[in-house]
Amino acid sequence: NQGTRSGVDHGVDRPYRGRFAPSPTGPLHLGSLATALGSWLDARAHGGTWLVRIEDVDTPRTVSGADRLILDQLQACGLEWDEAPVWQSQRTTHYQNALEQLITIDRIYGCQCSRKQIEEALQKEGVSIAANQELIYPRTCHDRKLPIQNHALRIRLPHECQISFTDRDLGKQTQDLNTQVGDFVLRRADGLFTYQLAVVVDDHLQGITHIVRGEDLLSNTYRQMYLQQCLGYQTPSYLHLPLVTNDAGEKLSKQTKATAVDIAHPESIRESLCRAANHLGLQNDPIGGSITQWLNRKVQEWQERHFM
Ligand code: GLU
Repeated sequence: NQGTRSGVDHGVDRPYRGRFAPSPTGPLHLGSLATALGSWLDARAHGGTWLVRIEDVDTPRTVSGADRLILDQLQACGLEWDEAPVWQSQRTTHYQNALEQLITIDRIYGCQCSRKQIEEALQKEGVSIAANQELIYPRTCHDRKLPIQNHALRIRLPHECQISFTDRDLGKQTQDLNTQVGDFVLRRADGLFTYQLAVVVDDHLQGITHIVRGEDLLSNTYRQMYLQQCLGYQTPSYLHLPLVTNDAGEKLSKQTKATAVDIAHPESIRESLCRAANHLGLQNDPIGGSITQWLNRKVQEWQERHFM
């Protein structure tokens, strides 16, 4: 499905393949619709292929039926995918294989620390911890040689681990993984693979060349790029889109009680699409004719104005 504009682009020399990868924790709201629309427009503007992947690795957070609802919402908004959607919960063999590859090259160690123990260890080192803050693991278990079974598994970062990339909108971005993230978890003690590992494996296996997603995921990109390097995968091009916030300036999410995109009424579908387009910096001209015609106009606008 190599389109007219695919090919060499931002250092990626494979035919464009993009994806929208929602976690099925609830229906799409304006924020996730804007991300879906941005990634769909970018794929269409490049003549590329667009996939949907349901990211349900974190089964306790998965809400039953949310996957179907999201797919219905996308379809109602005219955001059609090009290949059958995949569910991460059915792909654990792939994550296991990647993990084994990392074990073979000695990049993994077992960890038995609880969050509380990590907090205590950090406090002893004089680190003050804000509520809900991501903790930089103090490597308590690093040399313990715990068995791989029944423990959380962490990646062993090298001493120097500064990762940089050029976001298509935000420009050059850099993170020092040791001081800003620490050895991160790839498989939890309960056996579930983490988002970081699953997303990297799937983006690779699905041949994803262009990732367009919300800016809230920017700080995850460096971890994912490091894993790509360890596993010998190619790094895709990244575009992080601005987040939709509510009146209080908070990111729209289930936690902030964002309202679902209502697809029961044609008018509300159209209004949501216009607001999502406006958020992406496109004109929010009303949808007079069909949604498809309007989307085609947005593809053109994206080609003219956005990061091509
Ligand atoms: N599943 C993630 C989320 O819904 C997005 C993953 C990604 O685009 O890399 O926040």
